[in-house]
Amino acid sequence: MESTDDLPLPPYVTKEDVVFALRAVSVHGPEQRPDGERCRKDYARHPCRLHRWGRRVLQKRGLTETQVQTLISGGTVALR
Ligand SMILES: [Zn+2]
Repeated sequence: MESTDDLPLPPYVTKEDVVFALRAVSVHGPEQRPDGERCRKDYARHPCRLHRWGRRVLQKRGLTETQVQTLISGGTVALR
């Protein structure tokens, strides 16, 4: 579901964008709160705007969920 306040994606996703996106996804990760999952950075409901942006950038770059998890946990994935 797309919401209108979503951040725009870059027209072409560069490796720098991937680095930014990974940082956004990991820094804006979920945190368990009494009222549900919230962003541990800005306390918005998870997934927050930046987390969603990061996910969309990585998806546009063609990274799979598994590859994203590997990268977030410090592993390496060959980027085209
Ligand atoms: Zn956030």
